[in-house]
Amino acid sequence: MSEPSIFTRILNGEIPSEIIAETEDVFAIRDIAPQAPVHLLVIPKTQDYRDVVELAAGDPALLAEVVALARRVADEHSDGDFRLIFNTGAGAGQTVFHVHAHVLAGGLDEAGLGG
Ligand code: 5GP
Repeated sequence: MSEPSIFTRILNGEIPSEIIAETEDVFAIRDIAPQAPVHLLVIPKTQDYRDVVELAAGDPALLAEVVALARRVADEHSDGDFRLIFNTGAGAGQTVFHVHAHVLAGGLDEAGLGG
């Protein structure tokens, strides 16, 4: 059994962070170091999957639930349009190996990726 991740510790109330939305299997919080006007994290409650590739292979329905909650929080916290980013691997900037989606929204730089 691996050590609880920072997100598991947040879910368990050991590290303070408001849970802004949740379903049975997925929850959302604000990123502590926002990179956009709206920067939320959508996280499966299980830490069984370290990244989105493992999640897609192991539980595609749970990945779909992550995307659905991203849609909901983007609607609730911005105008509904959003970028969904899964950093995958340390070389791509992943620092927490408990799969999570970054939801970026609100006044995104039009020159940015895909903009
Ligand atoms: P990664 O770099 O793994 O893709 O994303 C991890 C994210 O978790 C980072 O954007 C970082 O700011 C965020 N983060 C790390 N520790 C905490 C914390 O204690 N609370 C919250 N709300 N976010 C955190």
